[in-house]
Amino acid sequence: MTVDLKLFIAGEWTEGHATGSYELRSPSTGSHIANVPLASQSDIDRAVAAAQGATEEMRQWSPFERAELCLRAYELWQDHIEEIARILTLEQGKPFKAEAIEDIAESGDYLHIAAEDVKRMKGDLIPTTERNRRMFTVRRPVGVWAAITPWNFPVMIPMETVGPGLATGNAVIVKPPLNTCWAMLEAARVIEEAGFPKGALSVIPGGGDIGEWLVTHPGINGISFTGSSETGKRIVSMMGLKRSIMEMSGNGPLIVAGDADVEAAAAAAVYGAYYNAGQVCTATERVIVVDELHDHFVEATLKAAQDVRLGDPFDESTNMGPLNNEPVAAKMDRHLEDARNRGAEVLMGGGRASGYPTDLYYEFTVVDRVPEAALVSREESFGPVVPILTATDDEDAIGIANRTHLGLQAAVFTNDVSKAFWYADRIRSGTVIVNDSTDFWETFQPFGGAAGTETGWGRQRIEEFTDLQTVVFNLKKD
Ligand code: NAD
Repeated sequence: MTVDLKLFIAGEWTEGHATGSYELRSPSTGSHIANVPLASQSDIDRAVAAAQGATEEMRQWSPFERAELCLRAYELWQDHIEEIARILTLEQGKPFKAEAIEDIAESGDYLHIAAEDVKRMKGDLIPTTERNRRMFTVRRPVGVWAAITPWNFPVMIPMETVGPGLATGNAVIVKPPLNTCWAMLEAARVIEEAGFPKGALSVIPGGGDIGEWLVTHPGINGISFTGSSETGKRIVSMMGLKRSIMEMSGNGPLIVAGDADVEAAAAAAVYGAYYNAGQVCTATERVIVVDELHDHFVEATLKAAQDVRLGDPFDESTNMGPLNNEPVAAKMDRHLEDARNRGAEVLMGGGRASGYPTDLYYEFTVVDRVPEAALVSREESFGPVVPILTATDDEDAIGIANRTHLGLQAAVFTNDVSKAFWYADRIRSGTVIVNDSTDFWETFQPFGGAAGTETGWGRQRIEEFTDLQTVVFNLKKD
């Protein structure tokens, strides 16, 4: 059955005003599962006008009133987790039981976290030089945000903006990609029920053209972008003085130091490469092992990889589904061909898996003796691959880890606390995980970046969605 989706604009479910529609196909079966209407510039204008009205209304509310609506949305969300997760699996390909349910449950948590955080939002009372002055700061909503989001976490990433955005009195226009917009549209139905003003949330799927209209629209005050660094650079060059939150690509190293628990490191490397089929900004993109542990690590990795069960994402035993789209599969092909050409050794997998309904099922892959110059080491592969590089010692390992233009999340395996700090002090990465996967994640974890990526989370997120306003009183009576 093919479903005809509608856009959610200014509190209404509507057709788009551009001609034609997009055929949304499931990556796991290839079936045509939905038609997505295409939006025009006039649809964007309508969403922006309604969003401006909604944020004007919400900025007058007390943070407790906004928190109450977020909590109501969170409670409603609890009854819809499986239904949204089913759509997520259908359109994105991640395993329903192993990942999608948790993914949607955590996506809803952003409403709850934001509701709690906003109640503790504070200003300062600033000392003044004149005794009859009083000066204090308050935080005001920025206004209308465009959330431009990727296909790998099609609900969670928009919700990272929707939760704190609404809680702080902003309106949010979400622009998911066309091929993974259905689950977020469904999520919007739940949030709509909570009773925010019309236009507080709009969801308008589209491609880069719609993204650019939003980025350059004079009525948009903030851009919350998550996606590739290439697109991020383009957006920054176009957006002018708008506020922005930019969350971009990763090339996460996992370092196995000389005294590491090798089995634990291998299991973490495998998990970091197969979770969401490796399509995660925090995925383990490179493993850097000190020479002396190389053989042991390879053996342990091949053993741990036996736990990867590629298959139909609705099959309960599956823990790795297909890749989401052809460009990401083609990139894996390119990276592996380049690695082979540079003398790396493919120990497991290495290409598209045969016997599946689509060409997007990719073999879990382990590549050894990867030269640092190989694409699979230098660039984000975004697929199920463990590329193994060797280092002579800790200095060499940190050098390899830091020679990247991307620095989002890294992991270090060591049983020596001093060594763990030594690495944490030197690594250029927003987060360092000691003795766990690069994919370790908490919904309220502050999330930063280095070397070309910048993000923020937790309490900082609330501050990112607000402007600081200083109010000065002259109490003198003449
Ligand atoms: P992408 O950059 O191709 O697209 C992201 C979004 O930007 C999409 O909605 C797309 O339609 C839109 N877009 C494309 N061109 C645009 C333009 N010129 N102007 C405005 N918008 C435009 O990224 P993707 O392939 O969808 O996602 C994968 C990337 O996202 C990976 O690099 C991954 O590491 C990154 N990512 C980062 C994080 C993080 O938190 N740092 C999280 C998830 C994914």
